[in-house]
Amino acid sequence: MSDLRPLLIAQIKAQGPITLADFMATCLMHPEHGYYATRDPFGAAGDFITAPEISQMFGELVGLSLAQSWLDQGAPAPFILAEAGPGRGTMMADILRATRQVPGFHAAMRLHLIETSPTLRQAQHQALGRGDIIWHDSFVDLPDLPLYLLANEFFDALPIRQVLRDGGHWRERCVGVTGGDLGFGLSAPMAIAGLEPRLEDTKDGDIVEFSPQARAVAALIGNHIEAKGGAALIIDYGDWHSLGDTFQAVKGHEIIPPLADPGLADLTAHVDFAALADATASGYSRLTPQGVFLERLGITQRAQALTAGMSGEALDSHISAHRRLTHAEEMGNLFKVMAFYPKSATPPPGLEP
Ligand code: SAH
Repeated sequence: MSDLRPLLIAQIKAQGPITLADFMATCLMHPEHGYYATRDPFGAAGDFITAPEISQMFGELVGLSLAQSWLDQGAPAPFILAEAGPGRGTMMADILRATRQVPGFHAAMRLHLIETSPTLRQAQHQALGRGDIIWHDSFVDLPDLPLYLLANEFFDALPIRQVLRDGGHWRERCVGVTGGDLGFGLSAPMAIAGLEPRLEDTKDGDIVEFSPQARAVAALIGNHIEAKGGAALIIDYGDWHSLGDTFQAVKGHEIIPPLADPGLADLTAHVDFAALADATASGYSRLTPQGVFLERLGITQRAQALTAGMSGEALDSHISAHRRLTHAEEMGNLFKVMAFYPKSATPPPGLEP
């Protein structure tokens, strides 16, 4: 049993039921017992594997797309190369290696990482092995320079609220205490500011998820890019608009009930890309399946080039990594890519306006 369960139960008994957003924020980021605050959850021995951990090709191609966007916008110097939620630092290491050949890129770049977990900051420091990294807790204090940013599986970790349509109102799904343990409940029907448009495309009983924090982050990133130049590549599982319950807990590569192990399981929800697009003042690209994006960037050629000198198990695992990243039945379709870029610019390679 986690140490967070008694803390949450005591808090709810004292102050009343909490929203899923409060539950998620506490479980993921509680300074002492939070999931990300206390561990490195990635890889075969951890709870889940992300695209950059599957193959170096992912970070290489994403990095080159961003670097081409920098060239397309006149190679501004200096500029910020930033990553939101860099995990173990694997993707940024691959990006830095792949972009070494891009003339002027490394000389002009200032490296900024947005990461709240001290454990993962440590891992990132080790993976990147350089002394010029600046870490941030949030996006508000990035310097006033053109911003080239990556976010892979970052937005899915931001807290969501979940509501059930009830006539012209919404009932919010909350976490309360029933029979001495954590349990779900529903609030009384209420109007929720900002959700009026969703009354147009939902029916009674539908579940809608929304993330005030994701919207706020998208606005900060997108407005910065519109004002100063740059581009953001946002990669995550999700879709255009949210519909249905996607709140999920994963532990040891298995899906478990979301309230079962607070602080010991990863909690995520699908990303509503329409909400991110709505929040930004910048231009944004068409939402594109990850498999299509990587194929357009030449992942097959890159995969073939890397097979030179490979054999046996290494070759098998390389082939299966390529398939896993791109195939429609694996990550290729579930994961989507969207870019923010200035309205006066073109989207990064691999994406369309
Ligand atoms: N991008 C990495 C890791 C994804 S996991 C990969 O693809 O492997 C989510 C990452 O976001 C972790 O590094 C986590 O610590 C970080 N994170 C989660 N919520 C955050 C927040 N509100 N602010 C900053 N970082 C956050």
